[in-house]
Amino acid sequence: MIQDNKNLKLENTYCELPNIFYSKEIPEKILNPKLVEFNKELAEDLGLDLKFLNSDEGIQYLVGNKLLEGSTPIAQAYAGHQFGHFTMLGDGRAILLGEFISRNGQRFDIQLKGAGKTKYSRGGDGKAALGPMLREYIISEGMYGLKIPTTRSLAVISTGENVIREEILEGALLVRIAKSHIRVGTFQFARNFGDVEDLKKLADYTLNRHFKKDSYEGNSYLYLLKEVINNQAKLISKWQLVGFIHGVMNTDNMTISGETIDYGPCAFMDSYDINTVFSSIDINGRYAYGNQPKIGVWNLTRFAESLLPLLDDDIDNAIKIAEEALSNYGKLYNEYYFNGMRAKLGLFNKEEEDENLILSLLTIMNKFKADYTSTFLNLTLGNLEEMSIFKSDDFKKWYESWQARLAKQNKSRDEIKKLMQSNNPTVIPRNYIVENAIKAAVNNNDYSVINKFLEALKNPYDYSNISEEYSKIPEVPSCPYKTYCGT
Ligand code: AMP
Ligand code: MG
Repeated sequence: MIQDNKNLKLENTYCELPNIFYSKEIPEKILNPKLVEFNKELAEDLGLDLKFLNSDEGIQYLVGNKLLEGSTPIAQAYAGHQFGHFTMLGDGRAILLGEFISRNGQRFDIQLKGAGKTKYSRGGDGKAALGPMLREYIISEGMYGLKIPTTRSLAVISTGENVIREEILEGALLVRIAKSHIRVGTFQFARNFGDVEDLKKLADYTLNRHFKKDSYEGNSYLYLLKEVINNQAKLISKWQLVGFIHGVMNTDNMTISGETIDYGPCAFMDSYDINTVFSSIDINGRYAYGNQPKIGVWNLTRFAESLLPLLDDDIDNAIKIAEEALSNYGKLYNEYYFNGMRAKLGLFNKEEEDENLILSLLTIMNKFKADYTSTFLNLTLGNLEEMSIFKSDDFKKWYESWQARLAKQNKSRDEIKKLMQSNNPTVIPRNYIVENAIKAAVNNNDYSVINKFLEALKNPYDYSNISEEYSKIPEVPSCPYKTYCGT
């Protein structure tokens, strides 16, 4: 446990894996590091020493100029399907400093994003720019506030160095905290570039790190597959329920822990439209909002393929076992999604008519280009004058059937409202607010805008103090807002 600088010890159990899985690296020295964002609450929750990490000496450790006791910095090897094409990847601009055990006994990775070239950098410089690192900080912390599993951001540190992209940008590092950085792509790497023993060691390590050993009997690798399928079905349903579009759901960006990872071109949908795409490189809309659940199972199929040699000695049998596990995904996803939607509409129990009720509201929202988050916010508040959709006959008819459905359950208005409030956020990391906050920081060195926004993002389900500024619908909808990998 890390309590003060003397006890600030790291481990790296990942190095117990065969050495094809990583490359030992030393982060590039940063001459002029400046802490521009620091997540005090996260540091406290994790049991890290706040005062030390905030000190001049602490920053030297945070950026990897000095190494904490027990730290063995590595870049992890992984492969992956990028937009459907398989390739060898690996941490090209991230270095894992090590692992630590938090206050409540959970093991976490501490990783530097933008720490310089590694064995896996290919043509890249291993660096990151300030804007995108602040963006990951804001959106990942926003996701945490929304109660969606995610990697967290402990700090952003400007390096004082230039990073050359299409223009010259200020460099920065993000200190990322994650349950682990094991990805679907890590298993694809093991299957394609290692032998069965390597694959087995990775699977055993993963089981040991993330899943309760005593909760499974029989083939533990099938258990691993089933758990990952379940966790991803749950995670992606949560994305859909808040209108989050990841933007680059390549298999290397899908974790085994079930945490959202790699905030590059992600963004939140404004008007409800399943075809919404923000990423400038997603020309065919492979990762559009409405495609995310399907891509989930596509990626999980790649995971299952990687595990085949461990599922059964007979390959045909192994395929059958994997297919059966995968066939459960749709049912799990629908269950999570419709349960979540029911809660958004104040429904406590399940009735056959619910799916129709939910889908017809979405159809009306699509027809009127209604803002996704605001529609549910206004339904919760009962502000039915607020939006044009509410004046339509389609909606009036729908509203009657919703009220009739609400009356069927034995719940008070107050109980219904509470359920809706805890499922419909008043604030999300909206594109234009995120952009303005980053601009103020990068162009004017003014971090007050980000910090105020981050405060609001901590409690998105708090209806006692709704911010008018942050719950406002953008005057110009953010489509065709473009996001870039420029990360
Ligand atoms: P991402 O789009 O963040 O998921 O990254 C995809 C792959 O590109 C990963 O293997 C990254 O490590 C690598 N990569 C991204 N940016 C850089 C960079 N500036 N230098 C080296 N590798 C990079
Ligand atoms: Mg990635």
